[in-house]
Amino acid sequence: MTWLVSRLLAGLVAMLLGGVIGYVVGGPVHAPVLTVLLGGTLTVGALAIVDTLRGVRLIDWLRGAQDTDAPRDAGFWGEIGYRVERSIRARERSTVQEKARLEQFLEAIEASPNGVLMLDVSGQIDWCNSVAASHFGLDPRRDRLQRITNLVRAPAFVAYLQMGNYREPVVFPSPNGLGTLSVLVRDYGEGMKLVLSQDITERERADGMRRDFVANVSHEIRTPLTVLSGFIETMSALPLTEVESRRVLVLMGQQAQRMQTLVSDLLTLAQLEGSPRPAADRWVSVSKLLLQVEGDARTLSQGRHTLTLVSDDAAQIAGAETELLSALTNLANNAVRYTPEGGRIDISWRVLTDGSGEFSVKDTGPGIEREHIPRLTERFYRVDGSRSRDTGGTGLGLSIVKHVAQRHGGELDVQSEPGKGSTFRLIFPAARLRRAAASPRPQGDASDAAVRGATADTR
Ligand code: ADP
Repeated sequence: MTWLVSRLLAGLVAMLLGGVIGYVVGGPVHAPVLTVLLGGTLTVGALAIVDTLRGVRLIDWLRGAQDTDAPRDAGFWGEIGYRVERSIRARERSTVQEKARLEQFLEAIEASPNGVLMLDVSGQIDWCNSVAASHFGLDPRRDRLQRITNLVRAPAFVAYLQMGNYREPVVFPSPNGLGTLSVLVRDYGEGMKLVLSQDITERERADGMRRDFVANVSHEIRTPLTVLSGFIETMSALPLTEVESRRVLVLMGQQAQRMQTLVSDLLTLAQLEGSPRPAADRWVSVSKLLLQVEGDARTLSQGRHTLTLVSDDAAQIAGAETELLSALTNLANNAVRYTPEGGRIDISWRVLTDGSGEFSVKDTGPGIEREHIPRLTERFYRVDGSRSRDTGGTGLGLSIVKHVAQRHGGELDVQSEPGKGSTFRLIFPAARLRRAAASPRPQGDASDAAVRGATADTR
């Protein structure tokens, strides 16, 4: 309020000064009252002109961008200028803060794995993040203020938007043709809409796989179960001779065994999928594994094949022994099961020049057509279904092998040509291998020396 006092004082002083001057000047003309009034009026008028000029300066500043300081006048206009400038600066600061917050907010929406698209009251695109742009095949700048239904013409989506009932999401093929989208709309503000999109291609695929898996398992179990219940019915309904009963019991045993193998493979798979990766500090002797694999293969072959085992290095693999044994045995047993009598099976282990280790099973069996090879590791995928079932296969063996390989950082490679046999190779990375001699040997490692460089003909 100091400006008020000083302003009143200045007016008063100006008036007095004008009066005094008027009185002094008006004495000689003998009209002191008139000259006092005239003098006072003139000085107040001069003060008003100065005031107006200051006001004009402030208005000019206000009309501009206010990017310089307000005119620093004393008194009334100075006070107004100072206060207006302070309020403008405070507003500018808060606008900058609001802008920064808005940008942060948009960046957060941009970082969302889901698509976010805002529609105005007339269904025009107001803003969208890049995920939504990619889901709907939009250009966030070019397509701004375009009607969404002019750009996204998927009938299910258009009908959903028009229907106005947004309780459930709508699912439709993505406009970019690469998958499936799930879209949910939420009303907000006054007649505006928030469109949330999610790419559910992977989820749909996983759901499909789960459905197929359940259907496959049910089918695989139902077949032996039907046979078993048939036999049970036969046995209870018909008086069988002892020979016949024994035959039926053998067949029933085979079906029960088939179910047991299937359940055991399913459990192995579930365990592989649900447990953490095998520790990298548990060392398993490759020689020991090879001997077990060879023993199993020989038992299965029963002398019907020429079977050789070659190992050039007494290495150890870091991982889970049971898993590795299961993978290696699966490959060797497949070779025995699919190779006709008289065929040859070569099992080998070698360390490659880059330090990785290769376990290989080569057979002279029927071979596999090229188009089947990428699908061999799918669950229940069989090239020759009847041969697989006749030899006790579940269609899960190579799936298990692939999982074990991946869990040990390795990979499965299949080379095959119809009529020329197959080679299945399991390659383990150098990081998971070490020479057996470099550490105290685990139990049973006496076998290392026996296998190294040995060729066993089991025929
Ligand atoms: P299965 O229990 O049916 O053998 P796998 O997953 O082990 O299941 O193998 C998948 C399919 O790959 C088999 O059904 C068979 O058709 C084919 N296969 C696997 N190994 C061989 C092989 N050594 N020679 C020819 N075909 C093979």
